[in-house]
Amino acid sequence: MTPLDLARQTLMQLSKSQSPPTPENFRRVYDEISGVKSVDHSVMLSKTLDKVLHDMGKEAPKYLTVAQKISTSVKKLDVESLESQLRSLLPTGASDMQGVNWATLLRYLLKQLDVNHSGITLSRKKEGLNRVIINFASDPIQLGQKIQALATSWGEGHEVTLSADNIPDETTLPEISLVPDDAQSTSEGKLQTQQAVTDDCQLKLAICWRDLLIRTITLVVLPQFADIPAASGRIEALIKRAQASNTAEEVNALSEALKSTLLRAEMQTDSQHRMQDSLVQMLRLLVSSMGELTVEDKWLHGQIAIVQDIISKPLNLDTVYNAESSLKELIFKQSNIKPGLLAAKETLKGMMSTFVSGLADITESTGTYQVKISDYQEQIAATEDIAQLNAILQSLVGDIHTMNAEAQHSQAAFLETQKKVEEAEKQINELTTKLDYISEVAHEDFLTGALNRRGMDDAIEREFSRADRHNSPLSLAMIDIDHFKKINDTMGHSTGDVALAHLAKVVKSVLRSTDVLARYGGEEFVILLPGSKQADAVNVIIGVQRDLTKNFFMHNSERVLITFSAGVSERLTGESIDAVLPRADAALYLAKQTGRNRVVGAPPP
Ligand code: GH3
Ligand code: MG
Ligand code: MG
Repeated sequence: MTPLDLARQTLMQLSKSQSPPTPENFRRVYDEISGVKSVDHSVMLSKTLDKVLHDMGKEAPKYLTVAQKISTSVKKLDVESLESQLRSLLPTGASDMQGVNWATLLRYLLKQLDVNHSGITLSRKKEGLNRVIINFASDPIQLGQKIQALATSWGEGHEVTLSADNIPDETTLPEISLVPDDAQSTSEGKLQTQQAVTDDCQLKLAICWRDLLIRTITLVVLPQFADIPAASGRIEALIKRAQASNTAEEVNALSEALKSTLLRAEMQTDSQHRMQDSLVQMLRLLVSSMGELTVEDKWLHGQIAIVQDIISKPLNLDTVYNAESSLKELIFKQSNIKPGLLAAKETLKGMMSTFVSGLADITESTGTYQVKISDYQEQIAATEDIAQLNAILQSLVGDIHTMNAEAQHSQAAFLETQKKVEEAEKQINELTTKLDYISEVAHEDFLTGALNRRGMDDAIEREFSRADRHNSPLSLAMIDIDHFKKINDTMGHSTGDVALAHLAKVVKSVLRSTDVLARYGGEEFVILLPGSKQADAVNVIIGVQRDLTKNFFMHNSERVLITFSAGVSERLTGESIDAVLPRADAALYLAKQTGRNRVVGAPPP
């Protein structure tokens, strides 16, 4: 039986037994008819899971309870309950992730209680300890940390004070003053504040703030002085000082230097804004006058329209990036087509010259025409304009009509040349039309409207550096249509083309506006998902697959289901495309190997 017969039989069998035509049922019946032993992966998985949980249940009975619940959920095919049971097995937070070494801590505590610390009596130590125990009894991790901090503080000659009002769930911090003493109000909590700064948690928070400040200066202030080496050198020194500032005095000393730097930064930003405004204003004037000067050139008008459109709106980084990449694309395409256009013009001129000099030979005897013809030759050599060439041609024709019998003889040759001229003119028109078209859509792939390879390179550069700047995740998916050759073979290459455009349209409708779709080549696409971690990106691509099953591709009024396989990888900070893409590609290969129409996430490198 051929696979087609098998499939037909399977469908008949399903409808006879009134089973719903789900992929599982289809596979089971198909395997029965073809005599292949059916493997149900879900049963195998559930058995394995059951065995593991039972083994673990010997140590912790909670696993036995979960095992029972899981097996019930599997039987009932209750996916939601199964998911929540599986999640309940995962570690739930800090208490599971990091333990306190109680043996070491208690030994340390006993030692600290025994040692005689000046100024702190044993009963005071016990009292402090008791307060910590009462306040953090419900959180063993915090309890451990607090006891550790308290015992340490006895040895450092001061005691961590835990009064009722400064112990909420999260330890609150006293204000850390960054202004010099004379500017600081002498509120009564000041002494207590400075003493408490040394508390472990408070120190950690202070370090967090310091690092945040350093990051802000590095990312926001420093780039503004990129063109002024002396200033950027000063700021870099300031950053180094901030990194090394660990005491309140050092921080206070830093604040003066910081103040003057921030003032300069503000002034710099102001002048940059003013300069930017004047530049944009100048550009607007320039572009509008360009438009008036070049009335005839449709192609140039296309370019001007793009620039005008961009600078008429409020500028933001994305529009400028997009504009830049579309202009780059435009220039690239035009550089390919322009030589063809110039060559066609040259041919036209060349043919006319040849013809006219041929005419000169024929009419050697007729002196009057000799003069005229050399005049024509000069005019042809001098002109660059097609319209003018035409005018010269017309006037030449007029003269030829009044020529003598010898010239009449060359009429046939002239007609032949005129035909060639018309052909060249037609070619010029075609190229010009193509150029006009390109000026509108050059930044995209013609067939699918996705970015082409050059557009993709620009987007990768832009999004990768943005992800690094903001330390945000970014994932990349590579997709390849399944059995696309078959679509081409059975429906024709041009239908294949339409199918590609259909796929790109569906993908775009599912993606966020910040995601980027690019045609990598043939029937392979790359999708950039800025801000998405790998698991989220996998879900987005699965969403695209789902949408493709709803939005069929129509061919001759028939629905054609297009499927694709995909590999997804998440980029690590600083990684280049040459590291990320091969991971996605390997995952795509795995998706193809394991049956197609699936999305595979790449394992971490
Ligand atoms: P699979 O990926 O599932 O392994 O099978 P496939 O049939 O899709 O195999 P493969 O990816 O190797 O083949 C891609 C085919 O896509 C080959 C080529 O004829 C066709 N193709 C590539 N570019 C275009 C295009 O622009 N238009 C059309 N119609 N077909 C294209
Ligand atoms: Mg392929
Ligand atoms: Mg393919």
